[in-house]
Amino acid sequence: MKFQLPRGTRDILPEEVAKWHFLEKAFMKIADNYQYREIRTPIFEHTELFERGVGDSTDIVSKEMYTFNDKGGRSMTLRPEGTAPVVRAFVEHKMYGNVDQPVKLFYRGSMFRYERPQGGRQRQFNQIGIEALGSADASIDAEVISLAMNFFYKIGLKNIQLVMNSLGDKESRLRHREALINHFEPQIDEFCEDCQKRLHKNPLRILDCKKDHEHPLVKTAPAILAFLNDDSLAYFEQVKAYLQAMKIDFTVDATLVRGLDYYNHTTFEIMSIEEGFGAKATLCGGGRYHGLVEEFAGPQTPGIGFGMGVERVLLALEKADISLPEKEVLTCYVITAQKEANTKAVELVNTLRQADISAEKDYLDRKIKGQLKDASRKGALYTVILGESELETGKYQLKNMATGEQEEVAETELVATLLTRMK
Ligand code: ATP
Ligand code: MG
Repeated sequence: MKFQLPRGTRDILPEEVAKWHFLEKAFMKIADNYQYREIRTPIFEHTELFERGVGDSTDIVSKEMYTFNDKGGRSMTLRPEGTAPVVRAFVEHKMYGNVDQPVKLFYRGSMFRYERPQGGRQRQFNQIGIEALGSADASIDAEVISLAMNFFYKIGLKNIQLVMNSLGDKESRLRHREALINHFEPQIDEFCEDCQKRLHKNPLRILDCKKDHEHPLVKTAPAILAFLNDDSLAYFEQVKAYLQAMKIDFTVDATLVRGLDYYNHTTFEIMSIEEGFGAKATLCGGGRYHGLVEEFAGPQTPGIGFGMGVERVLLALEKADISLPEKEVLTCYVITAQKEANTKAVELVNTLRQADISAEKDYLDRKIKGQLKDASRKGALYTVILGESELETGKYQLKNMATGEQEEVAETELVATLLTRMK
Protein backbone atom coordinates (compact mmCIF):
# COMPACT_ATOMS: atom_id res chain seq x y z
CA MET A 1 0.00 0.00 0.00
CA LYS A 2 1.34 3.39 -1.01
CA PHE A 3 0.56 6.54 0.97
CA GLN A 4 0.65 10.25 0.25
CA LEU A 5 0.74 13.06 2.73
CA PRO A 6 -2.59 14.68 3.63
CA ARG A 7 -3.68 17.65 1.51
CA GLY A 8 -2.37 20.94 2.83
CA THR A 9 0.59 19.40 4.65
CA ARG A 10 4.26 19.19 3.67
CA ASP A 11 7.30 17.16 4.48
CA ILE A 12 10.22 19.38 5.31
CA LEU A 13 13.09 17.39 3.89
CA PRO A 14 16.63 17.37 5.31
CA GLU A 15 17.83 19.62 2.44
CA GLU A 16 15.41 22.30 3.64
CA VAL A 17 15.74 21.91 7.36
CA ALA A 18 18.95 23.92 7.55
CA LYS A 19 16.95 26.96 6.41
CA TRP A 20 14.46 26.37 9.18
CA HIS A 21 17.26 26.15 11.71
CA PHE A 22 18.74 29.35 10.36
CA LEU A 23 15.46 31.24 10.78
CA GLU A 24 14.77 29.79 14.19
CA LYS A 25 18.26 30.61 15.41
CA ALA A 26 18.03 34.15 14.06
CA PHE A 27 14.68 34.58 15.78
CA MET A 28 15.89 33.16 19.06
CA LYS A 29 18.84 35.52 19.06
CA ILE A 30 16.55 38.51 18.51
CA ALA A 31 14.08 37.28 21.12
CA ASP A 32 17.01 37.09 23.48
CA ASN A 33 18.09 40.64 22.65
CA TYR A 34 14.58 41.81 23.45
CA GLN A 35 14.29 39.54 26.51
CA TYR A 36 11.43 37.35 25.31
CA ARG A 37 11.48 33.79 26.63
CA GLU A 38 10.17 30.70 24.92
CA ILE A 39 7.02 28.95 26.06
CA ARG A 40 5.79 25.62 24.67
CA THR A 41 2.13 24.77 24.95
CA PRO A 42 0.28 21.62 23.82
CA ILE A 43 -0.68 21.10 20.20
CA PHE A 44 -4.30 20.47 21.16
CA GLU A 45 -6.49 22.29 23.64
CA HIS A 46 -10.12 22.26 24.77
CA THR A 47 -12.19 23.48 21.83
CA GLU A 48 -13.86 26.13 23.97
CA LEU A 49 -10.53 27.87 24.47
CA PHE A 50 -10.47 28.89 20.82
CA GLU A 51 -14.22 29.51 20.57
CA ARG A 52 -13.82 32.06 23.33
CA GLY A 53 -10.29 33.18 22.71
CA VAL A 54 -10.40 33.66 18.95
CA GLY A 55 -14.13 34.35 18.77
CA ASP A 56 -16.83 32.17 17.27
CA SER A 57 -17.76 34.65 14.56
CA THR A 58 -14.28 34.39 13.03
CA ASP A 59 -13.48 32.24 10.00
CA ILE A 60 -10.93 30.35 12.03
CA VAL A 61 -13.44 29.14 14.58
CA SER A 62 -16.51 28.84 12.39
CA LYS A 63 -14.88 27.02 9.47
CA GLU A 64 -11.26 26.13 9.86
CA MET A 65 -10.71 24.18 13.05
CA TYR A 66 -9.59 20.59 13.32
CA THR A 67 -11.92 19.50 16.08
CA PHE A 68 -12.41 15.96 17.35
CA ASN A 69 -13.80 14.14 20.35
CA ASP A 70 -11.20 12.25 22.31
CA LYS A 71 -11.97 8.78 23.66
CA GLY A 72 -13.36 10.36 26.81
CA GLY A 73 -15.87 12.30 24.74
CA ARG A 74 -14.21 15.71 25.29
CA SER A 75 -14.08 18.10 22.38
CA MET A 76 -10.48 18.90 21.48
CA THR A 77 -9.03 21.14 18.78
CA LEU A 78 -5.62 21.22 17.13
CA ARG A 79 -4.41 24.75 17.82
CA PRO A 80 -5.19 27.11 14.92
CA GLU A 81 -3.15 29.94 16.47
CA GLY A 82 -0.83 30.62 19.36
CA THR A 83 -2.26 33.50 21.36
CA ALA A 84 -5.16 31.76 23.11
CA PRO A 85 -2.96 28.88 24.36
CA VAL A 86 -0.28 31.27 25.62
CA VAL A 87 -2.84 33.40 27.43
CA ARG A 88 -4.38 30.25 28.91
CA ALA A 89 -0.96 29.24 30.21
CA PHE A 90 -0.37 32.78 31.50
CA VAL A 91 -3.53 32.53 33.60
CA GLU A 92 -3.09 28.88 34.57
CA HIS A 93 0.43 29.49 35.90
CA LYS A 94 -0.53 32.82 37.46
CA MET A 95 2.20 34.61 35.53
CA TYR A 96 0.39 37.87 36.31
CA GLY A 97 1.93 37.41 39.75
CA ASN A 98 5.51 37.14 38.41
CA VAL A 99 7.95 39.69 39.78
CA ASP A 100 9.16 40.27 36.25
CA GLN A 101 6.59 42.38 34.40
CA PRO A 102 5.55 42.63 31.65
CA VAL A 103 5.73 38.92 30.89
CA LYS A 104 7.43 38.57 27.51
CA LEU A 105 7.02 35.24 25.75
CA PHE A 106 7.64 33.72 22.37
CA TYR A 107 6.47 30.46 20.82
CA ARG A 108 7.08 28.49 17.66
CA GLY A 109 5.36 25.49 16.21
CA SER A 110 2.69 24.06 13.97
CA MET A 111 -0.78 25.51 13.66
CA PHE A 112 -3.72 23.81 11.98
CA ARG A 113 -6.45 25.37 9.87
CA TYR A 114 -8.76 23.68 7.42
CA GLU A 115 -8.23 26.08 4.51
CA ARG A 116 -7.98 25.77 0.75
CA PRO A 117 -4.34 24.94 0.21
CA GLN A 118 -2.43 27.16 -2.24
CA GLY A 119 0.96 28.84 -2.40
CA GLY A 120 1.79 30.04 1.10
CA ARG A 121 -1.40 28.60 2.54
CA GLN A 122 -1.42 25.19 4.14
CA ARG A 123 -3.52 23.22 6.58
CA GLN A 124 -0.60 22.54 8.83
CA PHE A 125 1.76 25.50 8.88
CA ASN A 126 4.28 26.97 11.26
CA GLN A 127 4.26 30.15 13.19
CA ILE A 128 6.72 31.97 15.33
CA GLY A 129 5.04 34.49 17.55
CA ILE A 130 5.46 36.64 20.60
CA GLU A 131 3.18 37.91 23.34
CA ALA A 132 3.85 40.66 25.88
CA LEU A 133 1.40 40.64 28.77
CA GLY A 134 1.04 43.14 31.55
CA SER A 135 1.82 46.52 30.06
CA ALA A 136 -0.41 49.04 28.29
CA ASP A 137 2.50 51.30 27.49
CA ALA A 138 2.73 52.37 23.85
CA SER A 139 6.45 51.59 23.84
CA ILE A 140 5.61 47.90 24.13
CA ASP A 141 3.52 48.12 20.95
CA ALA A 142 6.47 49.73 19.22
CA GLU A 143 8.83 47.12 20.66
CA VAL A 144 6.74 44.22 19.41
CA ILE A 145 6.60 45.71 15.92
CA SER A 146 10.30 46.53 15.90
CA LEU A 147 11.17 43.00 16.94
CA ALA A 148 9.42 41.66 13.84
CA MET A 149 10.96 44.31 11.59
CA ASN A 150 14.46 43.75 12.95
CA PHE A 151 14.05 40.03 12.42
CA PHE A 152 13.16 40.59 8.77
CA TYR A 153 16.09 42.99 8.29
CA LYS A 154 18.46 40.56 9.95
CA ILE A 155 17.58 37.66 7.66
CA GLY A 156 18.00 39.99 4.69
CA LEU A 157 14.38 40.74 3.72
CA LYS A 158 14.26 44.37 2.68
CA ASN A 159 11.18 44.62 0.48
CA ILE A 160 8.70 44.64 3.29
CA GLN A 161 5.96 47.00 4.24
CA LEU A 162 4.52 47.68 7.66
CA VAL A 163 0.84 48.59 7.69
CA MET A 164 -0.85 49.80 10.84
CA ASN A 165 -4.21 50.73 12.15
CA SER A 166 -5.84 51.38 15.47
CA LEU A 167 -9.11 49.84 16.55
CA GLY A 168 -9.21 52.14 19.55
CA ASP A 169 -10.63 51.38 22.97
CA LYS A 170 -14.00 49.93 23.84
CA GLU A 171 -15.83 53.23 23.63
CA SER A 172 -14.40 54.03 20.20
CA ARG A 173 -15.20 50.57 18.93
CA LEU A 174 -18.78 50.74 20.18
CA ARG A 175 -19.37 53.99 18.32
CA HIS A 176 -17.81 52.54 15.21
CA ARG A 177 -19.91 49.41 15.58
CA GLU A 178 -23.12 51.44 15.59
CA ALA A 179 -21.98 53.26 12.46
CA LEU A 180 -21.16 49.97 10.72
CA ILE A 181 -24.56 48.48 11.54
CA ASN A 182 -26.30 51.58 10.21
CA HIS A 183 -24.13 51.44 7.11
CA PHE A 184 -24.74 47.80 6.20
CA GLU A 185 -28.22 47.13 7.56
CA PRO A 186 -30.29 48.59 4.66
CA GLN A 187 -28.55 46.32 2.13
CA ILE A 188 -27.49 43.41 4.27
CA ASP A 189 -29.54 40.94 2.18
CA GLU A 190 -26.99 41.46 -0.63
CA PHE A 191 -24.30 39.95 1.59
CA CYS A 192 -23.38 36.35 2.27
CA GLU A 193 -25.07 34.38 4.99
CA ASP A 194 -22.07 34.73 7.29
CA CYS A 195 -22.11 38.50 7.00
CA GLN A 196 -25.83 38.59 7.71
CA LYS A 197 -25.14 36.77 10.95
CA ARG A 198 -22.18 39.04 11.67
CA LEU A 199 -24.17 42.25 11.29
CA HIS A 200 -25.27 42.45 14.91
CA LYS A 201 -22.82 40.02 16.40
CA ASN A 202 -19.59 41.50 15.09
CA PRO A 203 -20.05 43.88 12.14
CA LEU A 204 -16.28 44.56 11.97
CA ARG A 205 -15.90 41.06 10.57
CA ILE A 206 -17.86 42.07 7.44
CA LEU A 207 -14.88 44.20 6.40
CA ASP A 208 -12.74 41.10 6.59
CA CYS A 209 -15.06 38.81 4.60
CA LYS A 210 -13.35 36.96 1.77
CA LYS A 211 -16.63 36.57 -0.20
CA ASP A 212 -17.98 40.08 0.02
CA HIS A 213 -14.82 42.15 -0.12
CA GLU A 214 -15.77 43.50 -3.58
CA HIS A 215 -19.16 44.80 -2.44
CA PRO A 216 -19.26 48.61 -2.83
CA LEU A 217 -20.55 49.02 0.71
CA VAL A 218 -17.37 47.42 2.04
CA LYS A 219 -15.29 50.05 0.28
CA THR A 220 -17.40 52.94 1.55
CA ALA A 221 -17.75 51.59 5.10
CA PRO A 222 -16.94 54.09 7.83
CA ALA A 223 -13.31 53.70 8.92
CA ILE A 224 -12.55 53.17 12.56
CA LEU A 225 -9.97 55.96 12.69
CA ALA A 226 -12.70 58.59 12.46
CA PHE A 227 -14.32 57.14 15.57
CA LEU A 228 -11.33 57.04 17.85
CA ASN A 229 -11.79 59.08 21.01
CA ASP A 230 -9.03 61.37 22.22
CA ASP A 231 -7.35 58.78 24.43
CA SER A 232 -7.24 56.21 21.65
CA LEU A 233 -5.92 58.73 19.17
CA ALA A 234 -3.23 59.88 21.58
CA TYR A 235 -2.20 56.27 22.14
CA PHE A 236 -1.92 55.62 18.43
CA GLU A 237 0.11 58.80 17.95
CA GLN A 238 2.49 57.71 20.69
CA VAL A 239 3.05 54.29 19.07
CA LYS A 240 3.76 55.99 15.77
CA ALA A 241 6.16 58.43 17.41
CA TYR A 242 8.14 55.56 18.96
CA LEU A 243 8.34 53.83 15.58
CA GLN A 244 9.59 57.04 14.02
CA ALA A 245 12.21 57.32 16.74
CA MET A 246 13.45 53.88 15.65
CA LYS A 247 13.29 54.97 11.99
CA ILE A 248 10.77 52.26 11.15
CA ASP A 249 8.64 53.21 8.15
CA PHE A 250 4.94 52.42 8.13
CA THR A 251 1.73 53.28 6.36
CA VAL A 252 -1.65 53.62 8.04
CA ASP A 253 -4.48 51.62 6.53
CA ALA A 254 -7.81 52.49 8.13
CA THR A 255 -9.39 49.30 6.74
CA LEU A 256 -6.96 46.93 8.42
CA VAL A 257 -8.95 44.70 10.75
CA ARG A 258 -7.61 41.38 11.86
CA GLY A 259 -9.04 37.89 12.12
CA LEU A 260 -9.34 37.73 15.88
CA ASP A 261 -12.19 39.23 17.86
CA TYR A 262 -10.15 40.57 20.74
CA TYR A 263 -7.95 43.11 19.09
CA ASN A 264 -8.07 46.72 20.18
CA HIS A 265 -5.81 49.72 19.77
CA THR A 266 -2.79 48.85 17.65
CA THR A 267 -3.16 46.30 14.83
CA PHE A 268 -0.51 45.73 12.22
CA GLU A 269 0.60 43.53 9.36
CA ILE A 270 3.94 43.18 7.70
CA MET A 271 3.82 42.20 4.06
CA SER A 272 6.36 41.17 1.55
CA ILE A 273 6.20 43.39 -1.52
CA GLU A 274 8.67 41.18 -3.33
CA GLU A 275 7.81 40.68 -6.99
CA GLY A 276 6.49 37.25 -7.82
CA PHE A 277 4.19 37.05 -4.85
CA GLY A 278 1.29 38.10 -7.06
CA ALA A 279 -0.48 40.27 -4.58
CA LYS A 280 1.25 41.23 -1.38
CA ALA A 281 1.78 38.42 1.03
CA THR A 282 1.23 38.92 4.71
CA LEU A 283 4.18 37.54 6.59
CA CYS A 284 3.19 38.63 10.03
CA GLY A 285 0.13 40.00 11.75
CA GLY A 286 -0.62 41.10 15.23
CA GLY A 287 -2.05 43.61 17.57
CA ARG A 288 -3.10 44.56 21.02
CA TYR A 289 -5.73 42.60 22.87
CA HIS A 290 -7.26 43.75 26.09
CA GLY A 291 -9.83 41.48 27.60
CA LEU A 292 -8.45 38.09 26.64
CA VAL A 293 -6.89 37.40 30.04
CA GLU A 294 -10.18 38.30 31.74
CA GLU A 295 -12.07 36.10 29.29
CA PHE A 296 -9.97 33.22 30.64
CA ALA A 297 -10.79 34.19 34.22
CA GLY A 298 -7.53 36.01 34.93
CA PRO A 299 -7.16 39.54 36.31
CA GLN A 300 -7.47 42.47 33.94
CA THR A 301 -4.23 42.42 31.94
CA PRO A 302 -3.31 44.14 28.69
CA GLY A 303 -1.56 42.12 26.01
CA ILE A 304 -0.01 42.50 22.60
CA GLY A 305 1.65 40.10 20.18
CA PHE A 306 2.10 38.87 16.65
CA GLY A 307 2.14 35.63 14.71
CA MET A 308 4.48 35.12 11.79
CA GLY A 309 4.09 32.46 9.09
CA VAL A 310 7.41 30.68 8.70
CA GLU A 311 6.56 29.09 5.34
CA ARG A 312 5.68 32.52 3.98
CA VAL A 313 8.90 34.03 5.25
CA LEU A 314 10.83 31.26 3.49
CA LEU A 315 8.88 31.94 0.31
CA ALA A 316 9.66 35.63 0.58
CA LEU A 317 13.37 34.85 0.96
CA GLU A 318 13.19 32.67 -2.11
CA LYS A 319 11.45 35.37 -4.15
CA ALA A 320 14.07 37.87 -2.98
CA ASP A 321 16.78 35.46 -4.11
CA ILE A 322 18.34 35.33 -0.70
CA SER A 323 20.04 32.00 -0.28
CA LEU A 324 20.26 30.50 3.14
CA PRO A 325 22.68 27.79 4.24
CA GLU A 326 21.52 24.42 2.98
CA LYS A 327 23.85 22.10 4.79
CA GLU A 328 25.65 21.94 8.04
CA VAL A 329 29.45 21.89 7.56
CA LEU A 330 31.31 18.62 7.51
CA THR A 331 34.75 19.25 8.98
CA CYS A 332 36.56 15.97 8.51
CA TYR A 333 36.03 12.85 6.43
CA VAL A 334 38.04 9.80 7.51
CA ILE A 335 39.03 7.67 4.55
CA THR A 336 40.02 4.02 4.91
CA ALA A 337 42.60 2.71 2.45
CA GLN A 338 41.99 -0.88 3.44
CA LYS A 339 39.39 -2.89 5.33
CA GLU A 340 41.60 -3.29 8.42
CA ALA A 341 41.52 0.45 8.97
CA ASN A 342 37.80 0.43 9.64
CA THR A 343 38.07 -0.05 13.39
CA LYS A 344 40.47 2.88 13.64
CA ALA A 345 38.10 4.95 11.48
CA VAL A 346 35.18 4.14 13.79
CA GLU A 347 37.30 5.16 16.76
CA LEU A 348 38.56 8.32 15.09
CA VAL A 349 35.20 9.73 13.95
CA ASN A 350 33.88 9.02 17.42
CA THR A 351 36.74 11.00 19.00
CA LEU A 352 36.19 13.90 16.61
CA ARG A 353 32.43 13.96 17.15
CA GLN A 354 32.88 13.93 20.91
CA ALA A 355 35.10 16.98 20.52
CA ASP A 356 32.27 18.77 18.62
CA ILE A 357 33.97 18.36 15.28
CA SER A 358 31.61 17.05 12.61
CA ALA A 359 33.04 13.90 11.08
CA GLU A 360 32.03 11.26 8.58
CA LYS A 361 33.34 7.98 7.17
CA ASP A 362 32.42 5.46 4.52
CA TYR A 363 29.80 2.79 5.18
CA LEU A 364 29.55 1.23 1.73
CA ASP A 365 32.97 -0.37 1.35
CA ARG A 366 34.00 2.15 -1.33
CA LYS A 367 37.46 2.33 -2.85
CA ILE A 368 39.66 5.31 -1.90
CA LYS A 369 38.60 7.18 -5.02
CA GLY A 370 34.94 6.63 -4.23
CA GLN A 371 35.46 7.83 -0.67
CA LEU A 372 37.23 10.96 -1.88
CA LYS A 373 34.31 11.66 -4.18
CA ASP A 374 31.91 11.10 -1.31
CA ALA A 375 33.93 13.50 0.84
CA SER A 376 33.84 16.30 -1.72
CA ARG A 377 30.15 15.71 -2.47
CA LYS A 378 29.50 16.17 1.23
CA GLY A 379 31.62 19.31 1.24
CA ALA A 380 34.19 17.98 3.70
CA LEU A 381 36.73 20.65 4.65
CA TYR A 382 39.44 18.13 5.54
CA THR A 383 40.20 14.45 4.94
CA VAL A 384 42.61 12.01 6.48
CA ILE A 385 43.51 8.71 4.84
CA LEU A 386 44.08 5.68 7.03
CA GLY A 387 46.50 3.32 5.28
CA GLU A 388 48.97 0.71 6.45
CA SER A 389 51.75 3.15 7.41
CA GLU A 390 49.34 5.54 9.12
CA LEU A 391 48.01 2.71 11.28
CA GLU A 392 51.56 1.77 12.21
CA THR A 393 52.96 5.24 12.94
CA GLY A 394 49.79 6.98 14.24
CA LYS A 395 50.66 9.93 11.96
CA TYR A 396 48.17 11.15 9.37
CA GLN A 397 48.20 13.42 6.35
CA LEU A 398 45.52 16.02 7.03
CA LYS A 399 44.39 17.33 3.68
CA ASN A 400 42.71 20.68 3.19
CA MET A 401 40.18 19.90 0.47
CA ALA A 402 39.92 23.46 -0.79
CA THR A 403 43.65 24.15 -1.26
CA GLY A 404 44.94 20.60 -1.60
CA GLU A 405 47.59 21.34 1.04
CA GLN A 406 48.61 18.50 3.31
CA GLU A 407 50.20 18.52 6.73
CA GLU A 408 51.36 15.68 8.91
CA VAL A 409 49.46 15.44 12.17
CA ALA A 410 49.84 12.88 14.94
CA GLU A 411 46.62 11.15 15.95
CA THR A 412 46.90 12.66 19.42
CA GLU A 413 47.07 16.13 17.89
CA LEU A 414 44.24 15.74 15.38
CA VAL A 415 41.47 17.20 17.54
CA ALA A 416 43.56 20.18 18.62
CA THR A 417 44.74 20.86 15.07
CA LEU A 418 41.24 20.74 13.59
CA LEU A 419 39.90 22.97 16.35
CA THR A 420 42.50 25.65 15.59
CA ARG A 421 41.95 25.34 11.83
CA MET A 422 38.20 25.80 12.33
CA LYS A 423 38.58 29.08 14.20
P1 ATP B 1 -4.43 35.35 5.95
O1 ATP B 1 -5.03 36.67 5.73
O2 ATP B 1 -3.25 35.10 5.08
O3 ATP B 1 -5.41 34.23 5.98
P2 ATP B 1 -4.56 35.44 8.80
O4 ATP B 1 -5.07 36.79 9.09
O5 ATP B 1 -5.49 34.30 8.85
O6 ATP B 1 -3.78 35.43 7.40
P3 ATP B 1 -3.02 35.21 11.23
O7 ATP B 1 -4.03 34.40 11.91
O8 ATP B 1 -2.83 36.59 11.67
O9 ATP B 1 -3.27 35.16 9.66
O10 ATP B 1 -1.62 34.45 11.23
C1 ATP B 1 -0.39 35.14 11.18
C2 ATP B 1 0.44 34.70 10.01
O11 ATP B 1 0.47 33.29 9.88
C3 ATP B 1 -0.07 35.17 8.65
O12 ATP B 1 0.33 36.47 8.40
C4 ATP B 1 0.58 34.18 7.72
O13 ATP B 1 1.93 34.55 7.45
C5 ATP B 1 0.57 32.92 8.52
N1 ATP B 1 -0.54 32.06 8.11
C6 ATP B 1 -1.84 32.16 8.49
N2 ATP B 1 -2.58 31.17 7.95
C7 ATP B 1 -1.71 30.41 7.23
C8 ATP B 1 -1.84 29.23 6.45
N3 ATP B 1 -3.00 28.61 6.31
N4 ATP B 1 -0.72 28.72 5.84
C9 ATP B 1 0.47 29.33 5.98
N5 ATP B 1 0.66 30.44 6.71
C10 ATP B 1 -0.41 30.99 7.33
MG1 MG C 1 -6.58 33.31 7.37
